[in-house]
This record gives sequence, C-alpha cells and structure tokens, in this order.
Amino acid sequence: MTSAIPPDLRVQVYQLDQARCAYCQTSEDLTITAFEIDHIVPVSAGSQTTLENLCLSCPACNRFKAARQTAIAPDTGRAVGLYHPRRHEWSMHFMWSDDRLRILGITPTGRATAEALRMNRPQLVNLRRLWAKMGVFPE
Ligand SMILES: [Zn+2]
Repeated sequence: MTSAIPPDLRVQVYQLDQARCAYCQTSEDLTITAFEIDHIVPVSAGSQTTLENLCLSCPACNRFKAARQTAIAPDTGRAVGLYHPRRHEWSMHFMWSDDRLRILGITPTGRATAEALRMNRPQLVNLRRLWAKMGVFPE
C-alpha cells in the first residue's frame, strides 16, 4: 500500500530510481499515471517499509508483479527469484534490443522477470517506438 509510505521515504525512492520504473525503466514524466512505491519483498512476506525494500514501479509492472518473489524462467522452466532493484544491477539482468524497443532478459532472473511483469507488453512497445522517434526514451 503506497499510503503507508512516509513522504520523506517516497522522496528518497523517487531520487534513487530517478523517477523511473525500477523494472521497465519507463520514466514517469512520459506517462499520464502516477507511479507507485513497490515493496520489493511484500509486507505479507514479513518485509519492512525501508529504502532497501522499496522501489518505484509503474502501475502495470506493479500489478503484474503483485506479491510474487519468484517466477518461472522461460528457458529452464524453473522458478527463480525475481529481479530485486536494490540488490541487483539492472544491466546485469537486462539489456535493450538493438532497436531499443524491447527489454531482453540476459539471465534466468532477467528472463523470468521480463516475462512475469510483461515488460514488453504491446502497448509499452508502441509507446517506446513513439518515445524513440521523439528522442526521449530510452536515452
Ligand atoms: Zn514498469
């Protein structure tokens, strides 16, 4: 629940994630929706509301992630831990496709997370195409 996040902590999360979704990298400034503060490990799993466990998420990534902590890696069929924005480096698990429209998982965690959060949903790919033409994203 985002309402339980103290305002100063929200500011810190926004600064740390540079006002971008920590998962799909979309900049909040390019959208018409307010991004959400995600508990990376859900409170229901015993986590705390601390900077180490919070990240900025677009509403879609947050909905698809929900309370999950694992997902099935499409290449191995095995459950792996989801990408953890505070413990993992984005570029160690993901890369952009050559046309910069799609996020490619480069590890089992990256592939499982990209698929579970639908980081290449058609609507988002269409928006990336538009943003690329405008020269605003990805930078
Ligand atoms: Zn996102």
